Amino acid sequence: MGYAEVSVNSPVAQRRTFSYAIPSGLNISVGQAVWVPFGDKLLQGIVLELSDYPSVEETREIAGVIEPTPVLSPSHVLLARWISEHYLSPLFDAVALMLPPGFRRKVITFITSPETPPEYDTSSLTRDQRQVLELFNKQGKVSLRELEKALGKKRAQTIVSQMVGRGLAVRSYELEKVKVKPKKARYLHLKVESGEAQQEAARLRKPGRASRQANLLEFLSQSAKPVSVSEARREVGCSASVVEALVGKGLVELREIEVKREPISYEGITPSEPLTLTAAQKSVFETIKSSLLQGAEGKASPTIFLLHGVTGSGKTEVYLQALAEAVKLGKRGIVLVPEIALTPQTIERFASRFPHKVAVLHSKLSLGEQFDEWQRIRNGEFDVVVGPRSAIFAPQPDLGLIVIDEEHEWTYKQQDKSPRYHTRDVAVKLAELTGLVVILGSATPDVETFYHAQRGDYHLLQLSERVTPSEGSSLPRVEVVDLKEELKAGNRSLFSRSLSQTTAEALAKGEQVILFLNRRGTATFVQCRSCGLVLRCRRCEVTLTYHYDENVLVCHQCNYRMPVPQICPRCLSRRIKFLGIGTQKLEQEAGYAFPHARLLRWDSDVTQRGKHSHWEILNRFQSHGADILIGTQMIAKGLDLPLVTLVGVVSADTSLNLPDFRAGERTFQLLSQVAGRAGRGTLGGQVIFQTYSPENYAIQAAAKHDYALFYEREITYRRQLRNPPFTRLVCLVYSHTNDALCQREAERMRRLLIEERDSRGIADLGLIGPAPAFIHRLRGRFRWQLVLRGSEPSALVSQIPIPPGWTVDVDPVGL
Ligand code: ADP
Ligand code: ZN
Ligand code: ZN
Repeated sequence: MGYAEVSVNSPVAQRRTFSYAIPSGLNISVGQAVWVPFGDKLLQGIVLELSDYPSVEETREIAGVIEPTPVLSPSHVLLARWISEHYLSPLFDAVALMLPPGFRRKVITFITSPETPPEYDTSSLTRDQRQVLELFNKQGKVSLRELEKALGKKRAQTIVSQMVGRGLAVRSYELEKVKVKPKKARYLHLKVESGEAQQEAARLRKPGRASRQANLLEFLSQSAKPVSVSEARREVGCSASVVEALVGKGLVELREIEVKREPISYEGITPSEPLTLTAAQKSVFETIKSSLLQGAEGKASPTIFLLHGVTGSGKTEVYLQALAEAVKLGKRGIVLVPEIALTPQTIERFASRFPHKVAVLHSKLSLGEQFDEWQRIRNGEFDVVVGPRSAIFAPQPDLGLIVIDEEHEWTYKQQDKSPRYHTRDVAVKLAELTGLVVILGSATPDVETFYHAQRGDYHLLQLSERVTPSEGSSLPRVEVVDLKEELKAGNRSLFSRSLSQTTAEALAKGEQVILFLNRRGTATFVQCRSCGLVLRCRRCEVTLTYHYDENVLVCHQCNYRMPVPQICPRCLSRRIKFLGIGTQKLEQEAGYAFPHARLLRWDSDVTQRGKHSHWEILNRFQSHGADILIGTQMIAKGLDLPLVTLVGVVSADTSLNLPDFRAGERTFQLLSQVAGRAGRGTLGGQVIFQTYSPENYAIQAAAKHDYALFYEREITYRRQLRNPPFTRLVCLVYSHTNDALCQREAERMRRLLIEERDSRGIADLGLIGPAPAFIHRLRGRFRWQLVLRGSEPSALVSQIPIPPGWTVDVDPVGL
């Protein structure tokens, strides 16, 4: 008898598998979804391993198979195990990442007769039992629910267990079907000959008659194929009443036709041909191509490319041609983007290069649609799957290439739920398991990624110049404005003299302006308005955060506290201020400063309303429906806006003062991206950074478009302060409605960890905190955090029982 190691869908299963015996006659493979008895329940499980011996003495049997074909590929099985071990997450959470959408559905119990029913004497059966047997004969199997309806719940259950006990019936289980509503469209059909329709149209066109009906009739009579109602509405602008009138006259008929749902609308998307690569692109492409070739021949070592290229250097074109190459070799690709809604132009480019061969996964799809899409992907219907981080788990067969665009973006880390995986690390692991090729692309690579590339773990490819269609669109000039000087000159508005003047000039020329304010990252910090000093923790170098309730400044890394000073410790000024302005305030002030400009605000407050809002705002701005676009980091994404000649960063300091050791990196990334928005057309462009810290290295490097300058400084700091990539972090957060209890529990955990560390003699492991988490209070619960730092902190944490209420984040991106 064989045995299976099964990951079971139960919260108590945690990171382990359970041994089950495989009953004879049942065909079980690795990756198969099965039913297993667990306590007194029957649960879903995924077979991760087959073996000749069980890992425990007493085993129970697998109860049944959920789907005849395995749902997880062998490499996905290994990947799930790795995710669970690496991120210390429950095994089934990791497995679930790769299951079809809606897999954790309701179970339906069925009753059927066994394959070889025992001999029995009909007279020994009760009437109910005989009735059930008759049902078996009639319809093969009966759902328990059906029986319960007919006989009452209690009675049905008793009969079923009696019959199962006597071997007269067996139970089987199935997942409830996902309800996929086929999409239907309404089409207009002429009920008369087209000649007759035209005569009628002419009659209706007489003065005082229904000319809109005439338009529609004419349109229908001229059209060669059936016309959908939405098309008719678009083409001749007819309303429902016009259609109704024609239907009433018996001239037109409405028919509902089922349409095959396309994952994206290809309407308005024209197929595109590959561009002739520039010399720089070509050399990058050839390197990738030869790796793909080796991969296809099965002799590859895993290849991770870091494609470092400034915005507009032609990275996307390289992705497109690399994907085409993979397809030529019989492979398929996955392209990951930071956020689907914010990258419509990028998605269009993929769709137009691979017409009808692109699946786009996004959260706006209904469960049914997602399920449908998953199946189609698994059937190999798409060359390319585009999606957010979860798309990395798409069941793309023959996967040969993964592209992670804007690889430095934090959305690639799942932070809000288990498993707290990082897409980049998952991609690297997958490459190791299967030999596929990964391209990480960015203008401002994550410092850790670049460090790996420098060490030779990843293969560094660079595109250092924009693909310049004209001379005007080289990288824009950046001016750094010192806000302290503005204050000295008596200017207290949000706009420096330089920014107001340049904005006015651009507007006068009919050009467009973007004003950027990263409000989302703003913690309330305290700053001297005379010398610009921001108060920082002496131990951690992290910005201190102001807590209103206690009127103190707190270090969110180590819990160091100090009262708010009355005078500036550096320049002795009394002008200590709390900072925190938002986009709404900015919009108001821009209205006063530029009364004739048409303003448009784009931030999450505005876009949360509807699905197309991003599109609408973008389209309006692109078609010059507004002069000034005001927004948060959303506007920093990959938009091509040729009329924009000025980008003003109202405060470059908001992200700089985040209480996190990655604040400098974050600032550099944001500023570089924002600066990349200007001067993409032939008009050229200019950028202004307003800041109280003009000498800061991140701001300086972004102003000079100099990644190397930033990286050298940043990596030095990281080394000095023993931050990643020189150490690894694990962040433990405890949350509870009672703040004091929260702190006590965090302190208990700290003692426990120290004890464990010392008893194991682990030298190189530091504990930071406990301290209130960056978001101290979230939805009525307080949060305290503990950070472990060392060469392998998760090894220690994995040995410790973690009580409920704690979350564990391995390799966190934001502290
Ligand atoms: P990135 O992804 O690095 O921002 P893109 O691939 O979007 O760069 O290229 C920037 C612009 O240059 C796009 O408008 C693109 O169509 C164009 N482009 C890219 N490669 C070429 C090429 N080889 N020849 C002509 N135009 C190109
Ligand atoms: Zn000061
Ligand atoms: Zn500190």
